[in-house]
Amino acid sequence: MEGQGGDDVEKRRGGVGNGAIRRKRDPLWHCLTTGLGVNVGGYIQAVLDRNLAENISRVLYPNDNFFEGKELRLKQEYFVVAATLQDIIRRFKSSKFGSRDPVRTSYDAFPEKVAIQLNDTHPSLAIPELMRILVDIEKLDWDKAWDITTRTCAYTNHTVLPEALERWPVHLFETLLPRHLEIIYEINQRFLDKVYAKFPGDLDRLRRMSLVEEGSVKRINMAHLCIVGSHAVNGVARIHSEILKATIFKDFYEFEPHKFQNKTNGITPRRWLVLCNPGLAEIIAERIGEDYISDLDQLKKLLNFVEDEAFIRDVAKVKQENKLKFAAYLEKEYKVKINPNSLFDLQVKRIHEYKRQLLNCLHVITLYNRIKREPNKHFVPRTVMIGGKAAPGYHMAKMIIKLITSIGDIVNNDPVVGDRLKMIFLENYRVSLAEKIIPAADLSEQISTAGTEASGTGNMKFMLNGALTIGTMDGANVEMAEEAGEENLFIFGMRVEDVEELDRKGYCAKDYYDHIPELKQVMDQLSSGFFSPKQPDLFKDIVNMLMYHDRFKVFADYEAYIKCQEKVSLLYKNTKEWTKKVIRNIAASGKFSSDRTITEYAREIWGVEPSRQKLAAPDDPRE
Ligand SMILES: *Cc1c(COP(=O)(O)O)cnc(C)c1O
Repeated sequence: MEGQGGDDVEKRRGGVGNGAIRRKRDPLWHCLTTGLGVNVGGYIQAVLDRNLAENISRVLYPNDNFFEGKELRLKQEYFVVAATLQDIIRRFKSSKFGSRDPVRTSYDAFPEKVAIQLNDTHPSLAIPELMRILVDIEKLDWDKAWDITTRTCAYTNHTVLPEALERWPVHLFETLLPRHLEIIYEINQRFLDKVYAKFPGDLDRLRRMSLVEEGSVKRINMAHLCIVGSHAVNGVARIHSEILKATIFKDFYEFEPHKFQNKTNGITPRRWLVLCNPGLAEIIAERIGEDYISDLDQLKKLLNFVEDEAFIRDVAKVKQENKLKFAAYLEKEYKVKINPNSLFDLQVKRIHEYKRQLLNCLHVITLYNRIKREPNKHFVPRTVMIGGKAAPGYHMAKMIIKLITSIGDIVNNDPVVGDRLKMIFLENYRVSLAEKIIPAADLSEQISTAGTEASGTGNMKFMLNGALTIGTMDGANVEMAEEAGEENLFIFGMRVEDVEELDRKGYCAKDYYDHIPELKQVMDQLSSGFFSPKQPDLFKDIVNMLMYHDRFKVFADYEAYIKCQEKVSLLYKNTKEWTKKVIRNIAASGKFSSDRTITEYAREIWGVEPSRQKLAAPDDPRE
């Protein structure tokens, strides 16, 4: 039977489970290896059942920051939660606190021994599922079960974009998870009673804080469920955590301020330096030793080398080598030739309106127009690369990719431009491509509308790899500027307060279009089909959005962005001064180690101290 049926499927998926154990539990295997095998009906049903069961995990919903209320997705979320909780309960029962007999298991120690960190609301069903297990199966009374549940669970929020927040229709719960719905209603009733006791008569507050939203379709607000069912709630960068308390979770903060925390995201220096950029890791180790790899704050010691000519030369040389290597990769794999002496300007991240790849596009077109206007004027050569996936159902994101490649078609083939400006779309952006491109970047684009990017982690990877950041005061950019000194980043544009002010005043894109001649020229080119000669109205949806319903206020930051990019080009001409800023950035990037992040979660949310276990040896960076 080897190589037949299930084994084959398992291999194609790269499954590594214990075959014998897997087969024993597989009804199809059972059919084929027992007397039941003669029952042809049972065999057919077993195949059908297996297909049904496996359909649960067949597809990963591809959206980024977007909630799609599909039944299969809710089934997936429950499936993963149910399996995880059964594993947790089984392990707890086999510990010294447990017993197969529910009444002899003491759950008093459960919150001390188990921590469930809800990474976004996607596993929020863990809260009613744990309540169901403790109350219905383990026969604990409600109050005891609720105390255990809230002390065990904690919730991390990842976005404030309203279209991304999970609000599941009640009718899906009624058919799929009726008992969980009953439990959620009970949680809500008891919660709202307490809110009412603290704010008597404030019925509007009750409506705002309810886990159940009334409307044309009744929905469960899963973020509200997470906050109520957790002892800690955190955002993923300081500014984001403050925005949570001031806006979407304001009522909850006023009710239980002690729950609210911040845990600024981080990245692992093993993958994002040692593994992907060994040249840089090596010249750093030559100066400060290699202990920094497991204690990234030690990068601060590099401040002693900011004026060290040999170190400056080494840092610039490693960057140039990484750029040559990436240029060779692009030429070999994609037949694209780029100028390795140009400024490598990178924006790689999921395609989303809030991340404002369109602002980057407007800049590239502006540079193109400037070259065409004064072709003999000196121009600092740039290769602008944009990479990222669009969710298949997100029309505007796909149009943004189409625009990037269309600008490339015109700009890259214009003999007047030559190799002074290129626009490249990097296909199939993923971790393995990130590991190649980030070490080769000079400039990191982190240009979301202030208040929309919860943290960002791409920004941190670029900083650690010696790229300078052009960015708004958003997400972790704020803390990067604080660590490195604002003068060592290219910070531009509206702050959160400015965006709020503009919202009160009313954002009018047309005003910017009318008053900024270069912006008008760019938009007129997009409208007239300059970048899509075969289909002049191709970009009408983009133009219409930018002009009349741009939630992310691209034009409001256009002028500041263009001016800031001029400063970037000016500094880039001076390799030594540029490289000094690079060194100051690397030296200040220690805060953004995920070691720091995880230590904070452990101490401040899970109530545990980090173990004394030694971290990976430097020659085994992926361990
Ligand atoms: C780090 C990373 C991201 C996150 O990038 P942001 O700029 O923070 O959105 C996305 N995709 C890949 C492949 C990454 O490595």
